[in-house]
Amino acid sequence: MKWVKSSNLGYPRIGEQREWKKALESYWAGDLTQESLMKQLKTIRLNNLKKQADKGIDWIPVGDFTLYDSMLDTAAMFGLVPRRFGYDGGPVSVNTYFEMARGSQDRVACEMTKWFNTNYHYIVPEWEGLKPQLTENRPLREYREAKAELGIEGKPVLIGPYTFLKLSKGYEQKDFSQYLEILVPLYKQVLAELEREGVEWVQMDEPILVTSFPKEEMKIVVEVYQELRQAAPSLKLMLQTYFDSIEYYPETVELPVQGIGLDFAAGKKNFDLIKSHGFPDDKVLGAGIVDGRNIWHSRLSEKAEILEWLTSFGSGVFVQPSCSLIHVPVTVTAETELDPLLKKALSFADEKLDEVEILTQHLREGREKTVDRLKESNKRLDDLDQSDLRHQPQVREAVKDVKPQDTVRTPFELRWEKQQKRWNLPLFPTTTIGSLPQTKEVRRARLKRRKKEWSEERYNKFVQEKIVEWIRLQEEVGLDVLVHGEFERSDMVEYFGERLEGFAFTRNGWVQSYGSRCTRPPILYGDVRFVEPMTVRESSYAQSLTDKPVKGMLTGPSTILNWSFVRDDIPRRDVAFQVALALREEVQHLESAGIEMIQVDEPALREGLPLKKEAWSDFLAWSVEAFRLATSSVKDTTQIHTHMCYCEFSEIIDSIRDLDADVISIETSRSHGELIEVFEKHTYDHGIGLGVYDIHSPRIPQVEEMEKIINQAIGVLDPSLFWINPDCGLKTRRREEVIPALKNMVKAAVGVRDRY
Ligand code: GLN
Ligand code: ZN
Repeated sequence: MKWVKSSNLGYPRIGEQREWKKALESYWAGDLTQESLMKQLKTIRLNNLKKQADKGIDWIPVGDFTLYDSMLDTAAMFGLVPRRFGYDGGPVSVNTYFEMARGSQDRVACEMTKWFNTNYHYIVPEWEGLKPQLTENRPLREYREAKAELGIEGKPVLIGPYTFLKLSKGYEQKDFSQYLEILVPLYKQVLAELEREGVEWVQMDEPILVTSFPKEEMKIVVEVYQELRQAAPSLKLMLQTYFDSIEYYPETVELPVQGIGLDFAAGKKNFDLIKSHGFPDDKVLGAGIVDGRNIWHSRLSEKAEILEWLTSFGSGVFVQPSCSLIHVPVTVTAETELDPLLKKALSFADEKLDEVEILTQHLREGREKTVDRLKESNKRLDDLDQSDLRHQPQVREAVKDVKPQDTVRTPFELRWEKQQKRWNLPLFPTTTIGSLPQTKEVRRARLKRRKKEWSEERYNKFVQEKIVEWIRLQEEVGLDVLVHGEFERSDMVEYFGERLEGFAFTRNGWVQSYGSRCTRPPILYGDVRFVEPMTVRESSYAQSLTDKPVKGMLTGPSTILNWSFVRDDIPRRDVAFQVALALREEVQHLESAGIEMIQVDEPALREGLPLKKEAWSDFLAWSVEAFRLATSSVKDTTQIHTHMCYCEFSEIIDSIRDLDADVISIETSRSHGELIEVFEKHTYDHGIGLGVYDIHSPRIPQVEEMEKIINQAIGVLDPSLFWINPDCGLKTRRREEVIPALKNMVKAAVGVRDRY
């Protein structure tokens, strides 16, 4: 039998009580000095390491902790700071670092985008500024700290050069290897220093190797790793992939590294690959066996069997999660209010590490020692599967009964004409994406309601007062289409999950989304069923206060799925259709209540795309179908809107058109106008609004910048179809930021309208 070690790839940085978030936000608010911030973060960091050590994990990652994001850390480590931040070499200061992440009044933040197909966002490095240089060896610093403070022999984690480059912007694809020529020496320096320090294993994350990319580039990757090897010949590199199966398996496993980490949860094809191509005898297999992306307990006896087989490969095995655990909450133990049947079937980061430990023990010590615990884990899942919690026969029937005509509307041109008459809006109508500032006051009200200090009536009255306040403000600002503001929602998925059957909620199941922002994804564990209208009260109330149209506001099926932890015992498509049918009922209720402009947000459609191109068409087909199922029952004059965030649209523009929404708003401004180029090459023939300012930054945009964006946009899009809106919902901004920004936006719209 070969040797077996347990290993982890990354641990949630946020802390059990989101201490990390709280520390960062106090610092940004000026309530904490930099010194105290660093002290608090260090406590969290060491505590995270200690927890992993206490669980008995052999190879604990170090350097995965961050002040904001690991891609940004890597960019800062290499001095890749765009010129606009006024950086002139040396270690990047904490303030510059945060300015790159968040922007400031004078400086536009770096772009932010989704990390592969997750809901985690990373800061996009830009190749602009000084020549890259090693400003500090971060992994080394963290390795030393873990060793000195806790006696932990850590495994430094780095984002690999190929992934780092491919996820950055401002490099030219054709001169691709030139950029590696700049990067690789810096990586060599980092690795050589780690080797000199006596580090044994380094985890080099190269998730990009699971995406579809040109085969020629694989040759370059080989050269890169040959060079890295020469720089630190006795350091062991674990080339870590995750989120899917390896694209070029034979070439990848032959790379000159000592270990290859494979994802056996999301990358099922890795099983076939290892079966048909084998695995090098002289390399360690990183067996990513415990699903790091979902929150279900593993069927450990199945995993154990797979692992027994996997140990026939390679020179040794790391038993590990399939990817970093930052994508799941910290621990189930805090969940005191879940149905025990459900709770037992759950596993968050800490429990997943327990699973890794049981499996490791199983391989080391054999069946007898672990058999009971393995069986027990299966029972947890069987009990849930067999319970009524998961089965609603009428819902299953309704999904089977969906007919093609349930997903078609009158052709767009015909509806659009009727809608123009019905709504009679000015050219370039202005609107917002839905949510308005969720101030302390709003959050406090929600808390009071949750703690039952406030009755439902009291709370509803509060929400109504906010709606009145903001309907007036929106009228004053001069917007054409208003929103009710979503004050009653803490989160756009949670809100619906709480009102539909089939969802459960955690008390503390937070997961980092971007920067200090965390979300608490609902757990979609059972069949989804509509119970009663969910949004009619607030929308109708808002509409009763004004002559301007107020958009109804719903969250679409793909987004509900993508931002939840979804059951994996039935196909995802079926879950999406269940959600779509429930939303369809809500749409009908809204329409009957006189809300005839309805936005169904699908910000997550793009990020749900499989990483492999060959899997796209199937995924897009049912995702689009689900959206249409939710939105196609309405009258021709009812205007369906949708909204999307961060999207490389060119690749899926046909599917976006297929959604057949009357108006789509798209977040644009943080990709600095690139989206506009998309529409130079592709026509889009439904209503469309490109976000004219970045809402993720506190900065107030000037009229001229927005005019410029509008003019660019209507240069490539049909002006009669063009809408004007900010990038995204405004809930994270303060009223003092929103009002002047929207006033400027309306000024820009009126300016362009007048001159047009
Ligand atoms: N309607 C949602 C909101 O305004 C849309 C959120 C988003 O942009 N992702 O908050
Ligand atoms: Zn958005």
